[in-house]
Amino acid sequence: MKPFITSTPIQSLTETFQHNRFYIKREDLIPLSFGGNKARKAYYFLQEMEKQQANCLVTYGSSSSNHCRVIAAVAAAKGYPCLIISPSSQNKPTINQQLVETLNAKLIYTPLSQVRETIQQTIEQLKQDGLKPYFIPGGGHGHNGTQAYVDAYREIKAAEAENDVSFDMIFHASGTGTTQAGLICGNYLFEDSKKIVGISIARDMKNGRPVVLESVNTYLESHSLPPISEAEVIFDDRYRAGGYGKYHEDIIEVIKQVFIHEGIALDPTYTGKAYWGMMQYIKEHQIEHQTILFIHTGSNPLFFDYFQKYGLTRSVRNEDHLYRTARASENGLGSNR
Ligand SMILES: *Cc1c(COP(=O)(O)O)cnc(C)c1O
Repeated sequence: MKPFITSTPIQSLTETFQHNRFYIKREDLIPLSFGGNKARKAYYFLQEMEKQQANCLVTYGSSSSNHCRVIAAVAAAKGYPCLIISPSSQNKPTINQQLVETLNAKLIYTPLSQVRETIQQTIEQLKQDGLKPYFIPGGGHGHNGTQAYVDAYREIKAAEAENDVSFDMIFHASGTGTTQAGLICGNYLFEDSKKIVGISIARDMKNGRPVVLESVNTYLESHSLPPISEAEVIFDDRYRAGGYGKYHEDIIEVIKQVFIHEGIALDPTYTGKAYWGMMQYIKEHQIEHQTILFIHTGSNPLFFDYFQKYGLTRSVRNEDHLYRTARASENGLGSNR
C-alpha cells in the first residue's frame, strides 16, 4: 500500500431542489478500506509517521468508528502493530468493529475518565519494549487532518477549472471539525468566497464551533496568516436529530431516495444526516439557483449496519438507534469518532 491519493471524483446529481445544481465529491471512493475522510487524513499521518521512522501505531476511538477501522487497516497493510485505546461503551456490534478485530488491532478498553493516562501508559510501555510508537489523535484531529482537507479543497479548485463550474456552497457532515477547518482554510488560502456549511452531526454550536475555529486559526498561524473570527464559521447544529448516532424517518427517507436516484449510499449517523440537513438548510434559507457541492465523507460500513438490520423501508422507532453510547449523552459526540 503506497500513501497517495489521486483526486476523488466529483459527479453531478439528478437533484434539482429549488433550481439549484448539485454535485457530490466522492471521498467514500478513496482507495483505502472503504475510504472516507478518515482515510484521507490517515495518509497524512502515515507520511509523518514514516518520516519519524516510527514502527507502531497508537490511536484513540471507539472500535466501531470509521477512524479506527482505517487506522487498523493502514497498520495491517504496513505490518505495524496497532493499539487502539477505546472508551468502554455499550456499542452494539458493528461492521467497523468486526473489521477492526479482523485486522488484528489490539483494543485497550478504558473508562472515559482515564483515557489520557491510558494513552500515556501505553506509549510508555511500547517504548520500554523497544518500539517507536506514533500517536494519531481520535478522528484524525490536528494539523495533518486539517492539511488533508486543505488539499481536498485544492482538488475542488482543480475540478472547477477543468469542468468550467464554480461552486457557491459546500455542505458536509461536521464532527470534530477538522474536515471543516481544512475546507475553510482552503477557501481562505485561495481567496475564495464559497460558503462552507458544516452540518453538525453531534455537538451543539457552543461546543462544536470553537473547536473548528481553533483548528482553522492554528493552521493559519502556522502559515503566518491572520486569524478568522468565530462568526465566519458556519457550524449548524439544528439538524442533529437528537444527537450523535440518532436519526429519524426523514433521514432514512433521504438515504433511500439518494440510493435509488443516484446510486450512492449514505449512512444515518454522518452523511445521510448531513444530506438531509443540507436540504433543510436550503429550504429554510430559500437558497435558489446556486451550484452546491456536497462532500461524501465516507462511512459506507454504517450504511450496511443500518441496511442489514432494517433495510430502507422500515420506519424508525426511538429504540432503534444503533450507536448509542454512554459517552454520547455526556458530551454530545459519542465515542464513535
Ligand atoms: C468522522 C466523520 C465525519 C466528521 O469529520 P470531522 O473531520 O471529525 O468533522 C464526517 N463524516 C464521516 C463519515 C466521518 O467518519
